[in-house]
Amino acid sequence: MAKPVLLSVDDDSDVLRAIERDLRSEYGAEYRVMGSDSAEQALDILKQLKVRNDSVALLLADQRMPQMDGVQFLQEAMRIYPDAKRALLTAYADTTAAISAINQASINYFFLKPWDPPSERLYPQLDDMLDDWQASYRPKFEGIRVLGTRWSPRCYELRDFLSRNHVPYHWIDVELNANDPDTKQLLDALGPEAANLPVVLFPDGTKLLESLPAQVAEKVGLRTRAQTSFYQLAIVGGGPAGLAAAVYGASEGLSTVMIEREAPGGQAGMSSRIENYLGFPSGLSGGDLARRAVVQAQRFGVEILAPQEVTGVRTETSYRLLKLADGSEISCHALMISTGVQWRRLEAPGIDRLQGAGVYYGGGATEALSCKGEIVYVVGGANSAGQAAMNFAKYADRVYILVRGDSLSSTMSKYLIDQIQQTGNIELWTHASVAEVHGESHLEEISVHCSDTNKIERVPASAMFIFIGALPQTNWLGELVERDEHGFILTGPDLIRNGARPKGWSLDRDPFLLETNVPGIFAVGDVRHGSVKRVASGVGEGSVAVQFIHQYLSKV
Ligand SMILES: Cc1cc2nc3c(=O)[nH]c(=O)nc-3n(C[C@H](O)[C@H](O)[C@H](O)COP(=O)(O)OP(=O)(O)OC[C@H]3O[C@@H](n4cnc5c(N)ncnc54)[C@H](O)[C@@H]3O)c2cc1C
Repeated sequence: MAKPVLLSVDDDSDVLRAIERDLRSEYGAEYRVMGSDSAEQALDILKQLKVRNDSVALLLADQRMPQMDGVQFLQEAMRIYPDAKRALLTAYADTTAAISAINQASINYFFLKPWDPPSERLYPQLDDMLDDWQASYRPKFEGIRVLGTRWSPRCYELRDFLSRNHVPYHWIDVELNANDPDTKQLLDALGPEAANLPVVLFPDGTKLLESLPAQVAEKVGLRTRAQTSFYQLAIVGGGPAGLAAAVYGASEGLSTVMIEREAPGGQAGMSSRIENYLGFPSGLSGGDLARRAVVQAQRFGVEILAPQEVTGVRTETSYRLLKLADGSEISCHALMISTGVQWRRLEAPGIDRLQGAGVYYGGGATEALSCKGEIVYVVGGANSAGQAAMNFAKYADRVYILVRGDSLSSTMSKYLIDQIQQTGNIELWTHASVAEVHGESHLEEISVHCSDTNKIERVPASAMFIFIGALPQTNWLGELVERDEHGFILTGPDLIRNGARPKGWSLDRDPFLLETNVPGIFAVGDVRHGSVKRVASGVGEGSVAVQFIHQYLSKV
């Protein structure tokens, strides 16, 4: 933890050195002693310390300085660090000025120069002031701080990225905390830079303005570039299926890289509570599952590149080559595709404009806390929507689930329907679909089309979370890998038509169970045609596929 600062200011370098020496010898173990030979420079130092979230316990300034005297300096400094103890160093001739400054500038004490011996004329008074300061001192948060506003899509994207990648951070909503003195002082210290939201402040004192997830990723050490150019196994997509393949592949000795576009965990990482995964009788959050799986994979030596996107694939003899979004290429012998699915877009006026500003696709775990006391809409009737509704109900005043049908029974598991029925602030709105969303800078109302009455109702809404089915994103595979009419990848027996192997297949065996029409390219999890869309089945497929990969590699 960074030590609180004692800052002394004196334009006379000999006096400055002497006071720093005396402070350091008595307080150096507990405090960081800093000095400056000009008031202007000292104010800059204080601003930098403020941005770094460092604490300042004491400001000690010489009264007679050019440009700005000690009293003026302490008054300015008080705006940045109002809780710091303030003391003046004065010559005997300035005693009267110093006494009047005690009232005028709320100065705690003045010391006469010279202060020898310090054990009598400096330390007892400073001890008293510092004890007083310590009594109300709360150590500051030392990690990453993100400044932004709730309704900014860019801020939402960044917060979501940090949360899903398990990067701890402290969120400061500059609008919501506009009257909070600490926030005001921080914004003052940042000056005009504070307008470039989201601003990310790192504990080392550096900052990123209008920060993008990829910039923050690089800064916090998330790896986006491969260490070598060749791997025995490359996995595209870090959801449950990809993570399972990574753990099994690496634990069985394959050099393995896993490339993930957003954050390991995939869709499961957005789930507030997975209750049907074997071995966790009271359920666990998707984030927790993802975090554990990542640690496990890393323990076995899996190289995880995230955030990094695969944009293309080609083959060259026994090599499968992946093109990455940064233009680099990785080659492998066995390729596993576990890119899952993405939310279908909801087509209604206003949706695109307000996305990230009250309208969200998926779980929005980041947003749940912000929905305290508000009215929230969840669109969709599957388990993912049910889980989200249960999660939001903990914070929101009221949660409405909008479904087109007349009940949840055909789309949602019974355990969730039961939980929803027992939750007083969740209401099911059947025969309902979103016709339009309204709001200037953020969502304020939605228009709901009621198919039973054929009427449109306009209702207030603070946030709307959309869970309306999902589609695979497999265009990056070009013509190489066969898919069904919806883009899901065909594997194993699905590729055998009228007893014939797929076109271009050159081996004297059929494709393995989870193998595509290209030998050595496998597909698992939600992206696979006919897969069961569940965490456990994705994990099962990812693990099983590694057996086929071993068989394939033994012949390469
Ligand atoms: C909110 C929610 C709650 C759910 N709750 C449950 C539950 O309780 N129980 C249950 O069994 N199932 C649940 N599911 C379903 C379950 O999460 C999915 O079936 C499972 O996550 C599928 O795993 P997957 O690895 O196949 O794909 P995904 O989880 O979809 O992961 C695919 C990953 O691939 C990445 N990716 C995509 N394209 C690229 C690319 N080109 N380059 C790099 N990376 C790429 C994506 O970013 C994503 O992280 C839930 C789903 C959701 C959304």
